[in-house]
Amino acid sequence: MSDVIAPLSDKDRIFTNVYGFQDWGIDAAMKRGDWDNTKKLLEIGQDEIIERIKASGLRGRGGAGFPTGMKWSFMPKESKDGRPSFLVINADESEPGSCKDREIVRHDPHKLIEGALIAGFAMRARAAYIYIRGEFIYEAKVLFAAVEQAYEKGFLGKNACGSGYDFDVFVHRGAGAYICGEETAQIESIEGKKGQPRLKPPFPAGAGLYGCPTTVNNVESIAVGPTILRRGSEWFSSFGRENNKGTKLFQISGHVNKPCVVEESMGISFKELIDRHCGGIRGGWDNLLAVIPGGSSVPLVPAAQIMDAPMDFDGLRALGSGLGTAAVIVMDKSTDIVRAISRLSYFYKHESCGQCTPCREGTGWMWRVMERLRSGDADISEIDMLQQVTKQVEGHTICALGDAAAWPIQGLIRHFRPEIERRINENKGSAPVMEAAE
Ligand code: NAD
Ligand code: SF4
Repeated sequence: MSDVIAPLSDKDRIFTNVYGFQDWGIDAAMKRGDWDNTKKLLEIGQDEIIERIKASGLRGRGGAGFPTGMKWSFMPKESKDGRPSFLVINADESEPGSCKDREIVRHDPHKLIEGALIAGFAMRARAAYIYIRGEFIYEAKVLFAAVEQAYEKGFLGKNACGSGYDFDVFVHRGAGAYICGEETAQIESIEGKKGQPRLKPPFPAGAGLYGCPTTVNNVESIAVGPTILRRGSEWFSSFGRENNKGTKLFQISGHVNKPCVVEESMGISFKELIDRHCGGIRGGWDNLLAVIPGGSSVPLVPAAQIMDAPMDFDGLRALGSGLGTAAVIVMDKSTDIVRAISRLSYFYKHESCGQCTPCREGTGWMWRVMERLRSGDADISEIDMLQQVTKQVEGHTICALGDAAAWPIQGLIRHFRPEIERRINENKGSAPVMEAAE
């Protein structure tokens, strides 16, 4: 059972225009409090801004949950050999189920752009590159226009906001590859190369864009920065639980009555989240089969385990899953769960950049076996063999895509083995009613 986390009230929401009820433009954004005396925020000073972000407890909102202030503190305080530092903002949101950064960019772009200036200043970056997913055509238009507006007001460029600091923001459009959301592949792509991940270390803070010190942050991580500084680190850390602080955009899709994107306290229970914002599960709570709580890269959790789970990094890790991007994919009992996971396997096979053998060969292999398990055209012993292959892929690849391809299958086998066995035994290829193994 989770600690009881109070739901967020409207006055504590950072993203006040996430549904686009108001104009995204700079004048409306300023009325909502964005760009309000940003110079004063910059006067807090570079090191102190980083300390305040650390004190807020903010952990990266792109999926991995690395502490944001700590990441900023890895950037050099002095330029070596005259090399500039850069901030890269990852708006290449492509994780199946994730759709929060899109809402920020299309409805609240000035939170992101002001956040870029503040984060860039704190880490002594010369410029920010916002890498936006190629399919986000409308959002890219909004972003280009919003950056232009910020330049026109003197908030960006030379002497940004009258602070004496020069800072540029460039928008770079992707071309539709999921792997370019991986930070080093994204850096390669901005440099004009094929988007393939680099080995880490070195981490980007040591050698990033054009070989210069670079920090790559998710859109949401950057966009919450100005509000944290304005309202205080303590205000932000008053939400959530130890090590899992703040507010968070959840994206709930699938078999709920009202799918939505909503900002809530970290650690809110799954049931509260769904009842409060999504009108419950389609067909009632008894109809819930399983949930993928953090985007397609994390293992599913069966209905009985997820109900009271705190929706945060540690709460979901304790269930063998993860918060990831907080893209909550809800599946009711009408779901063909083996087919659903097989479809994800196809996605990872399709998106593998092909650079390392376990991922290039393993993702295709796993998908083909998953398809046979789906139709029941397999031997029972192949379930364990598939499990072993996922273990050989996991942790043996250059980037996290290999793990992401392995984990959903591991979750399926862990929780729905009887369903897979039933298909093989009956060799029918469809299953009208399913229950989790525990
Ligand atoms: P990661 O744990 O390797 O790294 C997270 C961040 O911390 C990176 O910026 C990395 O440079 C930094 N970091 C980690 N250890 C460090 C160290 N010792 N020194 C300096 N910096 C360090 O994870 P990742 O591969 O960047 O991200 C994986 C996550 O991305 C998955 O959990 C998944 O949820 C998420 N994801 C999100 C999307 C999306 O659309 N938003 C798409 C795919 C995956
Ligand atoms: Fe490319 Fe897959 Fe290797 Fe990542 S794990 S570098 S996507 S082949």
